[in-house]
Amino acid sequence: MNIVLLGAPGAGKGTQAAKLVAEYDIAHISTGDILRAAVSAGTPLGLEAKSYMDKGELVPDSVVIGLVKERLQEEDTDKGFILDGFPRTTTQAVALASELTALGRDIDAAIAVNVDAEVIVKRLTSRRLCRACGYIGSEADAACPQCGGEMYQRDDDKPETVRNRLNVYEQSTAPLIDYYRGSDLLMEIDGDRPVEVVFADIKGKLA
Ligand code: AMP
Repeated sequence: MNIVLLGAPGAGKGTQAAKLVAEYDIAHISTGDILRAAVSAGTPLGLEAKSYMDKGELVPDSVVIGLVKERLQEEDTDKGFILDGFPRTTTQAVALASELTALGRDIDAAIAVNVDAEVIVKRLTSRRLCRACGYIGSEADAACPQCGGEMYQRDDDKPETVRNRLNVYEQSTAPLIDYYRGSDLLMEIDGDRPVEVVFADIKGKLA
């Protein structure tokens, strides 16, 4: 099963992706995670990406498309994959379609997780992540409920950057909903419900 997960930052893509990966035993490809790892490692890619990420801007298409193409060559994607946070522009969506055609693969579903902007701002500014295992929690979690690790706030989850990320989403990424609707792959999900309810809805629609 090859899935594209769409939705504004904070819609719950990362949380649902982790559950889908466990359920269907497919590879998780999060461009945000790949870029953050490059930033932490201080690689040339990380240095280039950081200036965009800190402002809540998109990293240039050429950079991100190259990353995803490379990642799709890895063997674990043969059993299926979920793209989380990619594509984010029409240029990325078109590049993905042509890369998959070249690889003899297809997208089975584009899942759009919809959540109102006000809910998103609250979620993102109170979001905290576990440094050790990547668990996504909130400011209510003093330590990671999964592994006891230290929780931290992403730099781009600060209020000023969150507003910019939402503007960027509306301008560059929201049009992809129509792009995938046009190719009959779109499944729209109400993401403003408890995690397990959203997950059950997604599974039901994929079945
Ligand atoms: P995310 O973890 O998906 O919210 O991504 C965090 C940041 O990484 C974004 O605000 C962008 O700066 C960058 N990023 C992640 N995925 C992409 C993408 N597909 N295209 C461009 N920039 C991206």
